[in-house]
Amino acid sequence: MSKLNLLPAALLAACATTPPQPGPTRGPAAPSPNYSYHHVRTTEPVVALTFDDGPSATHTPRLLQILREQGVRATFFVVGTNVAARPDLVRQAAADGHELGNHSWSHPRLPDLTDAAVTAELRKTADALAAVGVKPAYLRPPYGAFTNAQRQWVHQKFGYDFIFWDVDPNDWQRPGVAVVTQRVVDNARPGSIILLHDVHADTVTAVPAIIAQLRARGFRFLTVSELLAAGK
Ligand SMILES: [Zn+2]
Repeated sequence: MSKLNLLPAALLAACATTPPQPGPTRGPAAPSPNYSYHHVRTTEPVVALTFDDGPSATHTPRLLQILREQGVRATFFVVGTNVAARPDLVRQAAADGHELGNHSWSHPRLPDLTDAAVTAELRKTADALAAVGVKPAYLRPPYGAFTNAQRQWVHQKFGYDFIFWDVDPNDWQRPGVAVVTQRVVDNARPGSIILLHDVHADTVTAVPAIIAQLRARGFRFLTVSELLAAGK
């Protein structure tokens, strides 16, 4: 297993422990002044599966195979160091129709950084994605941590909207395949953005059951762009 694909344990332990920034959740029909989405207002049974922190040489290929077999497209918020280490996996994800978003270069807490350092974190990942032909439209800040001032200037500078989530099974705590599956299925609702991490084996193993059980409830799976459009 390449260490390039792993975040330090301390970072992973902290990942998602910081709740999303407080603020109203609004669909695209009423554009949010902070350019941020936690879910999309819709009555349609549609959700977006999102996978953070990869691509992982160990787990992402298996996930891509599962998604291909299931005919599901998802959104990957990738860490730039992993993009640079595994550009082939990013190319494959894009070729399979998945959406790619920026999740910073090295997964820091952006509120702790200077504006210049934030710019470098986002620019380096954008450049690594551009090298494989991908231009991301969205940023997911690591840990969901982002200041309101950063939302304003990052949107102006990069054009990104900011994608958070409303379903979080805390898969990084490794509660097991059945628990991850149950938490996602129990909490998904129309317009949900589901937070998962394709750097954990159990998460990838849970994906077929998540897809099957949500489909049994009538849900369809969209990329983030498609989900936002569905809210219009
Ligand atoms: Zn992350």
